[in-house]
Amino acid sequence: MPSVYIKTYGCQMNERDSEAVAAQLVAKGYSLVTSEASADVILLNTCSVRDFAEQKAIGKMQNLAADVRKNRPEVVLGFMGCMAQSRGKELIDRLPDVDLVVGTQKFHRTAGYLDEILSGSREKIVDVAEEQGSEATIREHLLNGATKEKSVTAFVSIMQGCNQYCTFCIVPYTRGEERSRTIPDIVAECRELVSRGVKEITLLGQIVTSYGRRTTPHPASPPSPHPMGRGQGEGRSAKTPFVQLLEAVHEIEGLERIRFTSPHPKGYGDDLIDAYGRLPKLVEHAHIPAQSGSDRMLKLMHRGYTRERFLGIVEKLRRVKPEIGISTDIIVGFPGETGKDFEETLSLAREVEFDLAYIFKYSTRKDTPAAEMPDQLPQAVKEERNQRLLTLANEIAARRYEKFVGKQTQILVEGRSKRNLARMMGRTRCNKTVVFDGSERHRGQLMNLKITRTGSFTLYGDPAVVGLD
Ligand code: SAM
Repeated sequence: MPSVYIKTYGCQMNERDSEAVAAQLVAKGYSLVTSEASADVILLNTCSVRDFAEQKAIGKMQNLAADVRKNRPEVVLGFMGCMAQSRGKELIDRLPDVDLVVGTQKFHRTAGYLDEILSGSREKIVDVAEEQGSEATIREHLLNGATKEKSVTAFVSIMQGCNQYCTFCIVPYTRGEERSRTIPDIVAECRELVSRGVKEITLLGQIVTSYGRRTTPHPASPPSPHPMGRGQGEGRSAKTPFVQLLEAVHEIEGLERIRFTSPHPKGYGDDLIDAYGRLPKLVEHAHIPAQSGSDRMLKLMHRGYTRERFLGIVEKLRRVKPEIGISTDIIVGFPGETGKDFEETLSLAREVEFDLAYIFKYSTRKDTPAAEMPDQLPQAVKEERNQRLLTLANEIAARRYEKFVGKQTQILVEGRSKRNLARMMGRTRCNKTVVFDGSERHRGQLMNLKITRTGSFTLYGDPAVVGLD
């Protein structure tokens, strides 16, 4: 059977989509390869969130196409994902060596389309249509995929799409309207993963805190007697559907840890804050995209919260879980951002003390409202603000990491350290990577380590004081 190489650009959702496509292909008999050089099929799973990501994927495909045309004309080339969705057939017009373009609601059709192209029954295929029920098709996992090592952690896609329409963001146009899977469906997938050795699950979605808003009963009282067997209109509960989902996943025996990403600040109601205190498997980490520290910018971005509300969430979370790790996304150089607005973002970073901040220079996205706003900022201003915020965020993070030195912390061992294969790595509950001198027998174990020193966004544990939980 043909061999496939999938290269993924962008976020964890794209990684998860690629994994599900790879698993579907393996189930059909395709073999996975870790290099494009030996592949019969090369698929690029693309990202559209920033222009840079699009240009990278297009550049890569141009190189692949030139090589394939010259040396291996039988190789099948395809685009999948967000850029495939937004550009569709235009990609084949621009790069005629491309054979396949698969949109974000059609990942599960990839294997069938490849069969058709490889068998010669169709030459080129572009499918970027909407498909009802596609949110439930990202469910296959490759747990010991290309590396053949057993996975301790897994991502589970709980929903697709986004209805927030932030003015800078292309996602609602590339991923469509919010569509959520059912709780029983998600729980069944999680149970299956746990039965195959997974200890930690990350629930994934563009805005996970909006999970099930349209389909799961909420809010009202009394609490649902049957949170697992809900149907529309039945089992009313005062908890948001997302918290109901967390509770249902928490019930799974053998599962040690639950994470989720990304929530929206608007979704941090008291029921979710309370869940951190009640559900021991829900780890002390929250990735809460702030985007800006200026209320004026937040309004222009259509974020739906204020700086004060954001700070209030952080304060409440830290009251329930003082050791919680908080990470965020911030955009600098949004249209109209003044020096004063930017200072407010710097002051938010100082006030919150994020453990990790992903900082993005605003990138103009076609057909989004922000693209039409006045006062688009010059690249040099974006660069300068990016650098200033990055320096501050790194200083703060280094101080926060330093606080772990000399302390004992629990890690879940995920496998070998990527930088040094002779070492093992795991993560703390608050999402910090810990590297230590261990061995394969530690994989999948919860261990208590003493932290001896820090590196850049890494903690180091001393093997001499390793103890099993
Ligand atoms: N769902 C998440 C949320 O709450 O907004 C974000 C998902 S998005 C894929 C990841 C991050 O990319 C965003 O949080 C934002 O900071 C950044 N981003 C999105 N659109 C952008 C743009 N046009 N320019 C720069 N950064 C952008």
